[in-house]
Amino acid sequence: MANAGATRYEVRGAGRAIRWFSPGINDRDHFDVTAHIIDGKALADKMRSKIAKDVADFSGDTGVTPHLAAVLVGDDPASAVYVRNKERACAKVGIQSTLHRLPAETTQAELLELIGRLNQDSSVHGILVQLPLPKQIREKTILDAVSVLKDVDAFHPENVGLIVQGRPRFLPCTPYGVQQMLIHHGVQISGSHAVVIGRSEIVGKPLANMLIQKGEAGNATVTICHSRTRDLKSITRHADILIAAIGLPRFIKADMVKPGAAVIDVGINRVEEKLVGDVDFDQVCEVAGAISPVPGGVGPMTITMLLRNTLTAATLSRKAVT
Ligand code: NAD
Repeated sequence: MANAGATRYEVRGAGRAIRWFSPGINDRDHFDVTAHIIDGKALADKMRSKIAKDVADFSGDTGVTPHLAAVLVGDDPASAVYVRNKERACAKVGIQSTLHRLPAETTQAELLELIGRLNQDSSVHGILVQLPLPKQIREKTILDAVSVLKDVDAFHPENVGLIVQGRPRFLPCTPYGVQQMLIHHGVQISGSHAVVIGRSEIVGKPLANMLIQKGEAGNATVTICHSRTRDLKSITRHADILIAAIGLPRFIKADMVKPGAAVIDVGINRVEEKLVGDVDFDQVCEVAGAISPVPGGVGPMTITMLLRNTLTAATLSRKAVT
């Protein structure tokens, strides 16, 4: 499952090696091997070093510093933490970031006015609107107003359409991060059966779309499951690649996973002051061939792909000028 260059970790539950049944092998012929951790944090660090170099090269060539404008409306503490993490990540790779903080009572018209100004500002290359927005503001209206060339979250319908057609301008950060984790861990995507649980616009739908595209980072046979899927287990058990983006803590149990499968856990759930994923890690790592942890899995990769998209947006803006 893992490529030769990938970091190999031993996952040991209570000091024992993980038992892994090779697909297609009779249960009695099982053998012990260590499950692989798909380490998003390590990959994110590596990719951020490369982004920092690319940012320096871009700035050296053009005299322009890539610039991300982040918009935060209201006082949601979790959103404030997310935005702060994104700002810190920008600073570390040499991307300028500016935070626009608006009060919780901000009207839709006021927010649209700010987005309009950021769209016009040629020194701003990427615009990030932190979700959720207060209830008096219709999220779709705001996201549709972001310039398609500055849409580093890839939420605008034009950018979504380009993804569907297999000619993306930007890829949405979380699905982009998941795809990179699979590629860099040497997971065979092409020809595999990928099951995506969750049909959100942010994760499930775009990820499924990306995995069916032609090319080695795609070519999967994809099944999308959701809250109305009947007999979920009967589908997940056939997944070579299982991706959980549900928002239910430790929902995926060992008996829902095909032995040897690659499991990516997108979920972030707070349980008793601890962050846990949608996958019951302790159980599932005894069955899966590879598994991403929470924290330290998809989360750091999401921010990394935002940095990459901001540099892409800055590059696009230069192309528009020259
Ligand atoms: P969402 O609430 O928009 O979507 C959840 C999906 O799960 C829905 O499509 C729903 O149909 C499906 N679902 C709910 N209950 C189900 C069930 N019993 N069986 C099958 N499907 C079911 O959530 P989202 O924005 O896609 O996020 C999903 C999770 O991923 C959340 O925990 C969120 O915090 C996390 N997330 C993490 C990152 C990251 O960077 N790591 C980014 C985005 C979201």
